[in-house]
Amino acid sequence: MSGTQTGFMTGPVVTDRDRAVQAAVAQGLVGPAEPVAGLLDVAGIRRSAAELRSAFAEFTTPGTPVLHAFAVKAASLVPVLRLLVDEGLGCEVASPGELALARAAGVPAARTVLDSPAKTPAELREALALGIAVNADNPEELARIDGLVASAPTGAPLGLRVNPQIGGGSIGAMSTATETSKFGVGLRDAGARDWVVRAYLDRPWLTRLHAHVGSQGMPLPLMAEGVRALFDLAEEINAKAARPQIDTLDIGGGLPVNFASDVAAPTYREYAELLSTAVPGLFSGRYGLVTEFGRSLLAKHGTIVARVEYAKSAGGRPIAVTHAGAQVATRTVFAPDAWPIRVAAYDAQGLPKTGEPVAQDVAGPCCFAGDLVAENRALPPLESGDHAALLDTGAYYLSTHFAYNSLPRPGVYGYVADPSGAGRFATVRTPQTLQELAAESGAAHADGMRALK
Ligand SMILES: *Cc1c(COP(=O)(O)O)cnc(C)c1O
Repeated sequence: MSGTQTGFMTGPVVTDRDRAVQAAVAQGLVGPAEPVAGLLDVAGIRRSAAELRSAFAEFTTPGTPVLHAFAVKAASLVPVLRLLVDEGLGCEVASPGELALARAAGVPAARTVLDSPAKTPAELREALALGIAVNADNPEELARIDGLVASAPTGAPLGLRVNPQIGGGSIGAMSTATETSKFGVGLRDAGARDWVVRAYLDRPWLTRLHAHVGSQGMPLPLMAEGVRALFDLAEEINAKAARPQIDTLDIGGGLPVNFASDVAAPTYREYAELLSTAVPGLFSGRYGLVTEFGRSLLAKHGTIVARVEYAKSAGGRPIAVTHAGAQVATRTVFAPDAWPIRVAAYDAQGLPKTGEPVAQDVAGPCCFAGDLVAENRALPPLESGDHAALLDTGAYYLSTHFAYNSLPRPGVYGYVADPSGAGRFATVRTPQTLQELAAESGAAHADGMRALK
């Protein structure tokens, strides 16, 4: 995470994150009125984007077109997308909503890739008209695209998603390359590989090949094996076509993230280096490259800060009742073994707490018993008015709200840490107001059901 660490030899280490939490409390971004907020480290996001670019640039033949398309679902926030465009990235979108966000962020069509698993005819037509790259997921979708291509010429680069079926990682719900995964054409199914080859030979305009073999919980060598399978298939198709019909390989994202400490691992460089040995031809310049990383670009750069409303105890165990639970940390609450996150304790001023750690539960505000972001976790005792910070929550957490209990979407702020402790913030998303929440929940139609006789 945040690089700069200062502090005197005897004092505690103060990180950029600590400064941001303190400044957010001092400036009232989180407080009694707004008891939970998300913070994003702007310099950290820029740094990760630059690391991604330089890792691939190091191994790629100069002049090879490389597009790093950020998976929008990992942080569906327009200012984040705009920042990444600034850093030379594009966007991978998987729904009309995500495409709308990318367009609102000014992502050029040439830097946009559409991968949704259930694209409607209207969605496909729009993408083709805009010239956005589309990866078809299955034979029926390819047939729809046939019709569209026949009726109106398009400059959109078109590809097919395949599933190398190399197996899953440690989290079933995150494993996209299992035998029965819902994504893409399963290459090892009977007759599938021949069908894919034929599909390309019959369609000279099909020029890309896509696989996303992730994600969290996947070992890197298995990911590289998936990319190897993708590359081998492209070579086979191009040999049979007797021309370089496939000109671009989209290798997806899926780099896992270390949620156990501040160390960012594995690195993009480690992955690129592994790919360069496992699939040397990938970087030869014969194929343009597209990547679709999400979690690994943002996770380490986000922090959710929540006020502790009450401290209590039950069955002898201390419980901190905070304002961050399933609505912002949905995966952690519902699948705590697969998605453990670190929690840091801050006091009422937003300064790191230093008390002797005691095992305690850190609970959220939702009305169900399992709404815990950490169970039996050793932390300095949290008291009413303190703050609990959920670390590494920059991807799939603060941007992926779950509307349980009609809890409003919290505000999200980008920050740059200032050594003076002042901290400068930019609004990424304003906190949802209760009026907005009521409107979203049908307030304009309050009489609708009653009027039905
Ligand atoms: C979710 C997704 C990604 C991003 O995965 P991460 O694990 O966040 O890197 C990339 N491509 C596709 C098709 C996806 O569905």
